[in-house]
Amino acid sequence: MPANWPAPVTPSGWPLTESWTDDALGAVIVPETAATPFTHGCRPGDLLSVPIKHGEGCYVADDTTLCEIEARGQVLFRYVDASGEPTPEANPNGSLRSIAGVMNAGHNVFGLMPHPEHAVEAIVGGGEDGRRLLGSLIDALKADGADTSQIVAALGPSIGPCCYLIDESRAKMLRRLGDHVRERQGGIVFDLWSANLTQLESYGVRDIEVAGICTKCGGRDLWSYRARDAEGRYGTQLAFLGRPP
Ligand SMILES: [Zn+2]
Repeated sequence: MPANWPAPVTPSGWPLTESWTDDALGAVIVPETAATPFTHGCRPGDLLSVPIKHGEGCYVADDTTLCEIEARGQVLFRYVDASGEPTPEANPNGSLRSIAGVMNAGHNVFGLMPHPEHAVEAIVGGGEDGRRLLGSLIDALKADGADTSQIVAALGPSIGPCCYLIDESRAKMLRRLGDHVRERQGGIVFDLWSANLTQLESYGVRDIEVAGICTKCGGRDLWSYRARDAEGRYGTQLAFLGRPP
């Protein structure tokens, strides 16, 4: 952002990232501890490469708060360079003290800026380091007595097999995931919905609802990068994880 621009204000009140660039697509983060449900599949000092995709929002807090959360061990991840140092250059959004993820005081609620859910399958890009975090969570749930057959899952709107055109080289890779690549009207499409469904079933999840709403052709209320290209907006979904009391 040009240095002489006024400080931007966003509707959310979050400051825009200080050093956002279009090619800032990934960050390296390092866990401070493995003794949490979120990171016990990692070791302290492990460098995880995780995509970032936010244009606004960096971690800010006053000095007192920063000192308190550090003292209580609530900082779980920091942005670091390839040698594990939290340098300013390795910090993609100007977060104070290079903080990428924090926990609550009880260490059982965790907020993270980068996106581990976009680093779970190398075939679709982003690497697979995100599995370390998501796998830690699943293992922690199982260790606490969770039964995957009791999990209810919902797959929200995303690009559908009606619109997910891919080329032959991508199709060749994706065929390894199972029978989710289809020939259609002279082109090749990927059925992301059936691929996700099969993956969840392989973990023992039985109760799965698929919205079946395509974000590309499903109407103007939905946002699709493929349909609209970069237009200064983006689409997002919220997910909730919980269990009955
Ligand atoms: Zn469609």
